Amino acid sequence: MTDEQKDVEWGPCCFCGEAIAPMFPDPLSLTVATSDGKWQIWFTHAQCFKARLVDPPDAFGFFEPAHF
Ligand SMILES: [Zn+2]
Repeated sequence: MTDEQKDVEWGPCCFCGEAIAPMFPDPLSLTVATSDGKWQIWFTHAQCFKARLVDPPDAFGFFEPAHF
């Protein structure tokens, strides 16, 4: 163990490629799992994620995030 300070970096954002400043609700983590149980995590800006969510004409707000 050392006294060296380590800076934790989140990102880059998987959508825009820019760094993510740690300020709520960022960084957002996206976790995907395949049907055979393999998983992977990416980090993104909340706004980059929200901008890519569809708002279905027959179900407005269906994909609206609940916490950000
Ligand atoms: Zn982004």
